[in-house]
This record gives sequence, structure tokens and C-alpha cells, in this order.
Amino acid sequence: MQRDLTKLSQNVYDLLIVGGGIYGACVAWDASLRGLSVALVEKADFGCATSANSLKMIHGGLRYLQHGDFKRMRESICDRRILMQIAPHLVHPLPVVVPTYGHRIKGKEVMTIALAINDLVSCDRNVGIDPQKHIPPGRTISKSECLQLLPGIDGKDLTGGAVFYDAQVYNSERLVVSFLRSAAQKSADLANYVEVTGFLQQGNCITGVEAQDLLTGDRFQIRAKTVVNTSGAWINRVLALLHGQPQKSVLFAKAINLVTRQLFPTYAVGVPGQNSYQDSDALLKKGTSLLFIAPWRDKSLIGTSYTVCEQDPDNFKVTNKDIQEFLDRINCSYPAANLKREDVSFVHGGLLPSSGVCDRTGNVQLSKHSQIYDYREQGLQGLISVVGVKYTTARNVAQKVVDWVFRSWGQKPPKSKSSLTSLHGGEISQFEAFLTAEIAKCPYGLENEEIRRLVYNYGLAYPEVLKYLSANEREGLTDCLAVLKAEVLHGVRDEMAQKLTDVVFRRTELGSAGYPGNEALDICAETMGAELGWNSTQIQQELQEVRFAFEYSLGQERSNESKLTNFTASSLFG
Ligand SMILES: Cc1cc2nc3c(=O)[nH]c(=O)nc-3n(C[C@H](O)[C@H](O)[C@H](O)COP(=O)(O)OP(=O)(O)OC[C@H]3O[C@@H](n4cnc5c(N)ncnc54)[C@H](O)[C@@H]3O)c2cc1C
Repeated sequence: MQRDLTKLSQNVYDLLIVGGGIYGACVAWDASLRGLSVALVEKADFGCATSANSLKMIHGGLRYLQHGDFKRMRESICDRRILMQIAPHLVHPLPVVVPTYGHRIKGKEVMTIALAINDLVSCDRNVGIDPQKHIPPGRTISKSECLQLLPGIDGKDLTGGAVFYDAQVYNSERLVVSFLRSAAQKSADLANYVEVTGFLQQGNCITGVEAQDLLTGDRFQIRAKTVVNTSGAWINRVLALLHGQPQKSVLFAKAINLVTRQLFPTYAVGVPGQNSYQDSDALLKKGTSLLFIAPWRDKSLIGTSYTVCEQDPDNFKVTNKDIQEFLDRINCSYPAANLKREDVSFVHGGLLPSSGVCDRTGNVQLSKHSQIYDYREQGLQGLISVVGVKYTTARNVAQKVVDWVFRSWGQKPPKSKSSLTSLHGGEISQFEAFLTAEIAKCPYGLENEEIRRLVYNYGLAYPEVLKYLSANEREGLTDCLAVLKAEVLHGVRDEMAQKLTDVVFRRTELGSAGYPGNEALDICAETMGAELGWNSTQIQQELQEVRFAFEYSLGQERSNESKLTNFTASSLFG
């Protein structure tokens, strides 16, 4: 994956994709596999915005049952299976426990029926999946088993619990990079830190974009037959670059997750929240929303809180107030958690498409379906916009986008291959067996845990990282830091990392659960600095940017509202 802006400015591409989140990455992969020439530009780093902030769940869509939306359930179930197949190192089954209360909507009887329907609707969920990673059928458990699994849960009217399986992405940022690396291997040209600043138009047809390299300030043009706008929460901004073409604005809501001290180590838990919701589309129109507590590294990841947001995505902020209110909600729903501010080590925040606010409850309503828009009815050819609602279904939506592109050219779309083709590093048929064999080989005398981490992050391609692990580079470093150094070199040389934040948050898992400590950060900064020719001032600046991103979790800044937590691209890169 090499950043070549001259090539971008000289070629005329079939597709130019604006935005390198999971949606842009999946479009690039699907289109490249179908033989299209593809360019993709991202104004910050790949996958750094909403895609980095998800709860990491690859949903099987059990809760869509409440809407009787079997189509959406099937889509999620199929996409979960596909992601487990094409990226078996990154996507893994995760058991979920939900307590049941009384004998009505939250009761065990209703859950028993829901689990049975879910099993039926997902009867092909394990077809083609590594047998060691099969998703078992759901089951109900007794009250005492539930209390054992969820100590401290509200026991009043508790009748037992439901256990079902979903999947979790081990590293959602690396999954974005894997889609992009795979696309680059099929000749897609990609560049981070390139912002689209305008459109090129001939008559009623978009023919490309004006772009700016944010690392040098250079401006250039990129030409393409069709431009696909996958700019996520920036969609309104990107469309505003079209002169004289006012577009209907897409609404967004603020969503946040907290990384906290560990509450449950091996399974996720759905705790009934205190907030009631009303959903006019649902068959069961009222209920309480579930707080979801998932295991994350050696901590817990808790989501998701939704609030109204009218902020410009570049000024998006998660405030101290947002965090405190969410902590209060968690403690109210599950008092045994007793979480305090110092238990929060990281915050995820992002913007999700919304259909507005419920008049009665004041709750935010999230958009349920991804949308693909073209502008031919408004007399504009050559532009397609995508508004994605779930990380889980991005590949599926991308497939539809590429079909749409072919049809907009008056051509029959060739069959998509993205559901069947392993991503870079994903050609592993039996994950556990592969991991065990690699641990037994003990390359470079690495610790089991180090090999495990490398295999989960890079899959079959992990030797590409180890090639940077020379005996010299290990001198004076623990294995753990020596491997990290090799990962930094790999990130810079093979995966286009430009900034320290890229390496800390998105090429490695170093910053994925909170501040990793000065020693590890210094090693990263020095290694990267030597590679990219940074002087000591630049190294300090880069470290400062990383610390700024972590400052909330450092403690001393907590009461300072002027320094707000913001883990989106805008805060990381100014
Ligand atoms: C708190 C939270 C929890 C979530 N949990 C889950 C979950 O558990 N499971 C699930 O399936 N989904 C989840 N989601 C939803 C999921 O994360 C999003 O649907 C998905 O990441 C959106 O991806 P995207 O590519 O559309 O947007 P983004 O990831 O935001 O990508 C858009 C990119 O476009 C770039 N861009 C913008 N303007 C320009 C420009 N002018 N030039 C170049 N580049 C530009 C931006 O920098 C950005 O990187 C969650 C979301 C949030 C916020």
C-alpha cells in the first residue's frame, strides 16, 4: 500500500471513492475485485472516524425480530457469516447473556420463542465456517445460573436469562485496513491525508474531484468516470461542494461507548437500561433499551448512548457531561458495576444517521437502513452517495453500490466476488488450529501471548510483520516492545501510516483500550521518527497529539471542559 499522488493525478479511474471508512474500503474492495480501476482518498487516516468508534459488534440482527424485519435479519446473519469467513482472524463469535424478567415482553417465554425463530432464520449461519468457530443455537438459563453469570444484577422478577451468540471484531481498524490492503493488491490506488475540496464537472456530469494533500498543502485533480461519496457524517459537507445543487441534508445523532475496568471477562451482557423507548416501526413498539457490556482487551466496552447532535462533524466532541451522564445511566441500570470516572480508560464517539427525535419520549431515532443516492433525477450524472448505518453490513451495501455503478453506465453488473474472497491475511481455514501451530513454532522465541496477538491482528500475514524483527532490533527490548517496533515499521512501510496516531490507534492495537504507557509510545515515536526523518521537535509534537487523544483517560484533565475528549479525525489531526 503506497501513497502515490502523482499516479492519482495522472490516471482516469472508473471509480473515485471519497472517504476511507469501512464503507469506502468495502466499495474499493468489491469494485477492484470486479476489475474496475479504483482510487480512494481519505482526508485523515483510513478508518479513523465513525468506523473506529463502533462497539465492535458484528450483529446477527436478533433485535430486528422486534420489527418483524426478516430481510434485515437475513442480511446481518449473512454478513456476519461472510466476515467470519473472509477475515477469520479478526471476526469471532461472542456469547451474549440477557437476563429475563417476569412473563411478558422481557420474559423467558418470549425470549425462548425469539431464540427459536432466530435459530430458524439463521439456519445457514455456519455454512462454510471453520467448525471451531460455529455459532451454537441460543438457549435459556435458570435464574440461579443467570445470577451466577451476572452477579449483582437486579433480582426482582428475574426469571432466568437468554444466551445467544453474536460476533465481535478483534480490531475494527485493522479490518478497514485489511479491506484496503486487499483492494490495493488488486491495483486500487489509495491515499490518506488527501481531502476532496471540490468537484470537476463537464455539463451535467461529474468527472472527478479537486483534492488537497493535507501533508504538503499541494492541490491536484483526480479524474474518474463515477465518484462514490462514502464520507459518512461529512456527506452534507461534501455535497455542499456541488455548485448550485442544493441537497437534502442527512441528520445525525451522537453515539458514544465507554471502555471501563472489566465487568464480565468472557461474554457480553445486555442489561435492561432505565430509558424506555417507543418505536413506531416495531411490532413491539415499546420497551427498555439494552445497555451492552462486551469484553474488550482486559476491560469492558459499554454502549451505546445516543443523543441529539447538530454539530459539524469537524467540531464533533464528546464532553465530560456526555460521559458522566452515560456512567450514571450504567450505574443506575447495573448498580453492581459502581463505575467511577477513573474507571473509564477510553471513550468512543461518532455520528450516526438519524431520522430525528421521538416526539413523545424525546429519544433519538436512528436510521434503520443504509441508503444509496444518485442524482440523475436532478440532472447530475457520475455521482453516487452512500449513507451507511452499520459496520456489519458495509460489505453488502458496497456490493449494491458497485452493481448500481455498472447499471448507471448501462451495463449488466458482473457477479460480485467480495463475499467469497478472503481478505489479506484471511486465508485460514481453521483458526484455532492455525494459532496453536504458530505458537508451537515459537518464531523468534516469542512469547505465546505475542504470537496470539500478532495472529489475531494480521492473520496468515503476520510473518510480514516479523520480517522487520531483526535480532539487533530486539536488543535491550522486551519481546513485547520488539514486536511493537516491527509493527511500527510494518505500518509505515507497508500500510501507509503517516502520523504517530495512525500507528498507535489504527495499525497496531496499542491504543485500543486506553493509554499504553510512556515507554511503548516513546518506542513507537522514535522508531517512526527514524523511518520518516522526524527531528526531536516533530517527535514531541507527534507524542503530544497522541497524548491529547488520550488526555481524558490520563485523569488530570478531567475537570477541564475546554479540553474535551474527541477521538475523531478532527481532534487527532487538528
Ligand atoms: C458509538 C458507535 C457504536 C457503533 N457500534 C456498532 C456496532 O457495534 N456494530 C455495527 O455494525 N455498527 C456500529 N456502529 C455504526 C458503524 O460504526 C458505522 O455505521 C460505520 O462505521 C460508518 O462507516 P462510514 O465509512 O460510513 O463512515 P466513517 O468511518 O466516518 O468514514 C467516512 C470517512 O470519510 C472521510 N471524509 C470525509 N470528508 C472527506 C473529504 N472531503 N475528503 C476525503 N475524505 C473525507 C472521513 O475522514 C471519514 O474517515 C457504531 C457507531 C458508533 C458511533
